[in-house]
Amino acid sequence: MTKQELFAYIDERSAIFTGLSDQIWSFAELSLKEFQSMALYVELLKEEGFTVETGLCGVPTAFSGSFGSGGPVIGLLGEFDALSGLSQEAGIAERKELIKNGAGHGCGHNLLGAGALAAAFAVKDYLQKTKKPGTVVFYGCPGEEGGAGKAFMARDGLWKQIDAALTWHPGDVNSITTGTNNSSIQVEYKFTGVASHAAGAPESGRSALDAVELMNIGVQFLREHMADHARVHYAITDAGGDSANVVQPRARVLYMVRSTQVKEALALLGRVDKIAEAAAMMTETRMERRFIDGTANTISNFTLEKLLFDNLTLVGAPNYTKEEEDFAQALIATIENAKSGLPGKGLIDGSEVTEEVRRLSNDGQKPINDFIVPYFQSTRQSMGSTDVGDVSWLTPTAQFVTACFASKSPGHSWQQVACGKSSIAHKGLLTAGKVLAAAAIDLFEDEELLKKAKAEFALNAREGYTCPIPPGAKPLAIDEEF
Ligand SMILES: [Zn+2]
Ligand SMILES: [Zn+2]
Repeated sequence: MTKQELFAYIDERSAIFTGLSDQIWSFAELSLKEFQSMALYVELLKEEGFTVETGLCGVPTAFSGSFGSGGPVIGLLGEFDALSGLSQEAGIAERKELIKNGAGHGCGHNLLGAGALAAAFAVKDYLQKTKKPGTVVFYGCPGEEGGAGKAFMARDGLWKQIDAALTWHPGDVNSITTGTNNSSIQVEYKFTGVASHAAGAPESGRSALDAVELMNIGVQFLREHMADHARVHYAITDAGGDSANVVQPRARVLYMVRSTQVKEALALLGRVDKIAEAAAMMTETRMERRFIDGTANTISNFTLEKLLFDNLTLVGAPNYTKEEEDFAQALIATIENAKSGLPGKGLIDGSEVTEEVRRLSNDGQKPINDFIVPYFQSTRQSMGSTDVGDVSWLTPTAQFVTACFASKSPGHSWQQVACGKSSIAHKGLLTAGKVLAAAAIDLFEDEELLKKAKAEFALNAREGYTCPIPPGAKPLAIDEEF
């Protein structure tokens, strides 16, 4: 079976994959609550003859669908969660909520999962027709926007069972993702005090809000004594109420600690914990902490990145109609402070690549980026975090981005939701599906390639995986009672 036949298979059945993506767009389910989305995936996988397992590693909406027998086992990772507050009508270039205060697919995970499924189906067709040994597994990975589904699955060793993992992400450019991400861990601290009349009996009150404020001040002082590359963010999730004349008996603060290495992030979190304990002692309140989620830093696999790049080049970037370009241009016009400079900022590196991107993008003026960013290997640190990092510590892993949105669209924006059901997005999804399928097939056919990817992985991951998720922790949506 040639790769052209593989691509034709995806094109012929494109309505299944774009239809799936559009339905997931409409469900717009938040992290760890993706039950309708999971049901739709499970139905499609079963119809196609995949063996389905749900509730993987204690995460109710984590699932897998596998086809084939024996090795190698290639995993394709799909996500499908949405973001709160981003409900938006599709296909228009103005801010208009579809559902008041509803959720929306502002990160394009409707496309992400459907693109990976397209690849899984195509690889299944390949395995069936060629009768080659090997297994393809589609993983439904929930809670990417909060909950870190893949990290829970990593804690339980799931990713060790596969020979390689491939995935992608919708973006505004066609490019391989290289370099590494920060590790990130979230913990929420709850303080409980004693309510009293703030004027009449202040001496009887013990303020939980004071504890939160003192904890925050403590952490501000800590900042001078932590590594430059570390980050600490916080949000007050409960300030105790709206009555200033009450000594607040309860208050909560959520902390997010990041560093380049998961071990460093854990050590820094330990210092934040001490400050929380001290704040409770100072205010004579009680402190309880609950773990929310955590992700490790990412390990690159240049062998697999090059494989993805070669196949991205083979598939090629899509062409766009005048109508599609006009829609993208109209969306760009609504973006305040549209990112200046070249597309794929953060993906490009080095003057040669930068100059080439400048040329290909008409100096950043294209409404949709219909070209492929040249591949370069990088160990550059990206400040953001992803739970793909946890996968990358347990099996050779690589990822890429395709253009699904107007150039310079910010992540997590209504503009991405508005574009998420368009033909621009669908073209990006199908491109990604073809690249993943073709790369997977190379891994089935070329034993040496997989060996090389594994050798590189063994070297880069030699210190072993430190999981940011404690042994007993359960996946938790941030709005659950505490
Ligand atoms: Zn996101
Ligand atoms: Zn995302």
